[in-house]
Amino acid sequence: MHGRLYNQLDLEIAIIPQTPLLIKSGQKQFVRTRRRTPNGDIDEVVYIPGSSLRGVVRAHAERLLRTLNDNYACYVEAKKFCLRQKGLKENEEAAPRLYRESCYACKLFGNTGIASRVQMSDLYPAIVPLSESRFGVAIDRITGAVAVGPFDLEVVTDARFEGRIVLRNFTIGQLGLLSAALLDIADGLIALGHAKSRGLGRVRIECVRAQFRFAQEANGAILGVGALADETVRKLYNILEEDRLSVEGFRAVRRDTVYYQVDSDNDAQIREWLSKAAPRWINEVQYAG
Ligand SMILES: [Zn+2]
Repeated sequence: MHGRLYNQLDLEIAIIPQTPLLIKSGQKQFVRTRRRTPNGDIDEVVYIPGSSLRGVVRAHAERLLRTLNDNYACYVEAKKFCLRQKGLKENEEAAPRLYRESCYACKLFGNTGIASRVQMSDLYPAIVPLSESRFGVAIDRITGAVAVGPFDLEVVTDARFEGRIVLRNFTIGQLGLLSAALLDIADGLIALGHAKSRGLGRVRIECVRAQFRFAQEANGAILGVGALADETVRKLYNILEEDRLSVEGFRAVRRDTVYYQVDSDNDAQIREWLSKAAPRWINEVQYAG
């Protein structure tokens, strides 16, 4: 199935901190990357690594799955062995079986045996971010004494980080689980970065632009891979045929000889699509496991 592109969502987002944000590299500094400025100089800028956002999204998605049933997501220490536990080895079994035998979280985010369906880019500042120092110490968990510090923590207080999430060959349930996790972060229920328990890292997520692409004409509905693949593929990967989400006013235009496309740069509209998809993982996980 990964050899073909049935559907794809390109979602451009902006993350806007609502409380001070600290994503650490080392002890006290915000993580930085080198970037070329318009006048050709190399500059160091604070940024949010895609792996950082992805980690928070996956962890929350797994929490949601386990709330329904503990077996719907494997545990961190077991993740690498999600497949081996079931007597499967990498490269020895066909891709469809690896997929079928993986937990619902691994089906979406990948494991050592199957590729992830969701990619997250690094998020770079769109405006010059404001940062400040916060006084901090690290407390020894056992003695309660100051283990490290005091030192100044560098937190970002005013910024807008922009990046992109790409979801390929997704079922409506998978779009739903990703949406549910993103919306919980956007609503401030889940924080990013360091010192979350002290109120840091609450963010707002703006949906800047969404572009859907489908291998068939999609009118009035977002089409999941089950609605686009043939019966053989559906059976191999244990995907429901009834894999569509009715959306009023959803109109795809022909992009080329193969694909149909739907674009929106309306934050409220994109959010409404994601909200509609969000609960759909619940039925799907109970069918596909
Ligand atoms: Zn797993």
